[in-house]
Amino acid sequence: QTPVLQVRDLQAHFRTRYFGVNREVRAVDGVDFDVRRNEIYGLAGESSSGKTTLVKTIAGLLKPPLEMVGGSARFSFLPEWDAIGRAPPEVVRRIRWRHLSYIMQGSMNVLNPLRRIRHSFRDFAWRHLGGSKGEFDARAAAHLERVKLDPSVLAAYPHELSGGMRQRVTIALATICKPDFVIADEPTTALDVIVQKDVLGMIRSIQQEMGSSVLFITHDMGVHAALTDRLGIMYAGRLVEDGETPEIFERPLHPYTRHLIASLPRIGDVKQREGLEGTPPNLAAPPPGCRFHPRCPLAMPVCATTVPAMVETLPGHRVACHVVNPGAVA
Ligand code: SF4
Repeated sequence: QTPVLQVRDLQAHFRTRYFGVNREVRAVDGVDFDVRRNEIYGLAGESSSGKTTLVKTIAGLLKPPLEMVGGSARFSFLPEWDAIGRAPPEVVRRIRWRHLSYIMQGSMNVLNPLRRIRHSFRDFAWRHLGGSKGEFDARAAAHLERVKLDPSVLAAYPHELSGGMRQRVTIALATICKPDFVIADEPTTALDVIVQKDVLGMIRSIQQEMGSSVLFITHDMGVHAALTDRLGIMYAGRLVEDGETPEIFERPLHPYTRHLIASLPRIGDVKQREGLEGTPPNLAAPPPGCRFHPRCPLAMPVCATTVPAMVETLPGHRVACHVVNPGAVA
């Protein structure tokens, strides 16, 4: 199946100069994966694993000191599969909302606090959808009903709505133009469990209705289990495992993935969860070889010197680990 998004050897670094000394933080360092049409691909990993930097690079939202320094992130809907990280700003503007939209953490970042919700809809989507002002407002009202919001919220200011309502407004904004691709970065993190479940169900039903693809980022493995079709695990700026979500949960192969799954709380299990020793590495000076080796319970001498290659170990299931794929070197 032709992917909608093809990421190859993507590298994005923060480059700063401090007191005359150059510093480079390799936040994303050689990531490869595809997102197919009509699927939800999840990205998991600790908060410093590079997930948000990765999706900002993919979405063309790079701001200094973050730079895309190598590789590509290509969308099938861009002319000649242009690399969005390097596409001119007018191309990025043209495709934003219409083909590619972004639901971020904290809806207040998207909604202008001084403008009524109606004006946010007009600002973002009217030029893409056209029609008279009345026709457009009617369309926005109908779309809000799909995310279970009363059309009267169009007249409200963001601060007059609850956190859950605001997040539904941003989902409605991100999907009103029926984009081919939606990036959702921790969209439910700030919400309580009941609202979170509701919002996840909404993302799934709108995605299925539109037939679009979603790249869904969260550190919460429980959310990935409930929502995503395929799942990629990131550690210290690299993808270490990916495959169908049920397969990853039933047969995790990378020691870090096993740790993430083992730390999920289970009903009736009162055993103390074992934490992972150590802290995520400093990406200004990442460990050589496998970046997980200082914390890995299975580490061998080769792990400290040689980067493991990402290999398709089982059909559709890739892993980067010397224990799982002996001799496979990047
Ligand atoms: Fe652990 Fe080595 Fe596998 Fe890395 S390559 S996850 S250090 S066993």
